[in-house]
Amino acid sequence: MTNFELYNPTRLVFGAGQIVKLKDLVPQNAKVLMVYGGGSIFKNGIYEQVKNALEGFSITEFGGIEANPHYETLMKAVEVIRKEKLDFILAVGGGSVIDGAKFISAAVKFEGDPKEILYKRMAIRDNAVSFGTVLTIPATGSEMNSGSVVTIAETQEKLAFGGPALFPVFSVCDPNVIVSLPKRQLQNGVIDAFTHVMEQYLTYPADAYLQDRFSEGILQTLVETGPRVVEQPDNYKLAANFMWSCTMALNGLIQKGVPTDWATHMIGHELTALYGIDHARTLAVIAPNLYRVLFSAKKEKLAQYGRRVWNIQGDDTDAIAREAISKTEAFFDEMGMERKLSAYTPDYAATADIIVKRFEARGWAKLGENGIVTPDKVKEIVEMSYN
Ligand code: NAP
Ligand code: FE
Repeated sequence: MTNFELYNPTRLVFGAGQIVKLKDLVPQNAKVLMVYGGGSIFKNGIYEQVKNALEGFSITEFGGIEANPHYETLMKAVEVIRKEKLDFILAVGGGSVIDGAKFISAAVKFEGDPKEILYKRMAIRDNAVSFGTVLTIPATGSEMNSGSVVTIAETQEKLAFGGPALFPVFSVCDPNVIVSLPKRQLQNGVIDAFTHVMEQYLTYPADAYLQDRFSEGILQTLVETGPRVVEQPDNYKLAANFMWSCTMALNGLIQKGVPTDWATHMIGHELTALYGIDHARTLAVIAPNLYRVLFSAKKEKLAQYGRRVWNIQGDDTDAIAREAISKTEAFFDEMGMERKLSAYTPDYAATADIIVKRFEARGWAKLGENGIVTPDKVKEIVEMSYN
C-alpha cells in the first residue's frame, strides 16, 4: 500500500425524503443559480420538491445542460453568475449537470481563457464558487468527488479536470429519484460505477487488502443489484444499495493507497466525443479488450477478481483470469450493453488512428497504472473493439 491523504469534505445526505433538508443545507442568504438538464426534473416532480424545500430563497434558474455537458452551454451559465452576482450553485441532475456545475464553479473567477482549465487539465485549488447537488441518477460518483468531464462541442473534445476546490459542499441522494429513469440510463449507471471500481482495482497487486475488499464488495453489490434494479427501480432496497454503490465507487476511498488505471475512461471519452455514444457504453466497448491487451500486467488481479467476485474455482491463474474477462463481458451483455463499436456507428474504420493522434498531440504517451498503455496499445485495444 502506498502513502496517501484522504480528504473528502462533501456532506452526503442520503435516503428517502431528504430533499426537504435543502433549506438547511443551502446557505441562508445565498444568491443561488440552480442548474439542471434537459427537463426530466419537471416530469418526475424533483423540480417541485427542490423549489418547495427552498421557498423564500433567492434562486435564478439555468436549464438545458446537455448530457456530456458542453463548454459552450456552461459558459452561458458563467455569464449569468457574473452578471447577476450570484454566489452559490445548486446542481439538480446527474453526472452531466454536476460536472457542469463544477466547470461553472471553476470558470466564474478564472483569470484568462476558461478553456485552459480543460486543455491544461488544471487542478482547481481556490477561487471556486461553492455548490451543492441533488443527485437524480446514480452512476458517476460526481456527487462526492472533485472531478469533472466537459465537452468542447466545437472541436469534439471531451476533457477531464478537477481539484480540491471542486467537491460539492453537500449532496442530497434520495434513492427514490431513480423510479423515473429510463432503463437505458439505469443500465448505464450500473456499468459506469462498475468500471470506476475496475479502474482503481484491476491494476497490479499493491498489498492493499482492505482496499481490495472494499472494491470487491462494491463490484459484488453491483452484480447483485444491477440486473434487478433495472427491472424494478421502485424497489427501494435495490435502489438504495445501487445508489450508495455508485457513490462509493468514486468518492476517493477505494483509490487510496493503490495504483489506478483510467485508460478505459480516457479512450471511452473519445468515443463519446466522436460518436455521441453514452459514456457507460463506451466503457463496455473498451474495457474487456483493454484487459486482454494488458493481460500479462493485469492477470494477477484479474484472477483475484475472478475468484472473489465471480467465484471461479481452480489453480490455473491464467485460465481464471481469462474466464474473469468472459464473465465481465457476460455481465455487460446482461446489462444491455452493446460491446462493439460497429453497433454504434458504421464509420468506425479510422477511429483508432484518430484517437492515437489526439493522445499524441496531448502528450498522452503512457497511460494506465504503470504507463504501459502506449499509443500502439491504444490502437490495438480500439481496433479489437471495432466488431
Ligand atoms: P447524465 O448525462 O447526467 O444524464 C443522462 C440522462 O438521464 C439525461 O438525459 C437526463 O435527462 C436523464 N435523467 C437524469 N436523471 C433522471 C431521472 N431521475 N429521471 C429521468 N431521467 C433522468 O448521466 P450520468 O451518467 O450521471 O452522467 C454522465 C456524464 O458524467 C458523462 O459526461 C461522463 O463522462 C461524466 N462522468 C463524470 C464522472 C465524475 O467523476 N465526475 C465520472 C464518470 C463519468 P435531463 O437532462 O432531462 O435531466
Ligand atoms: Fe465514468
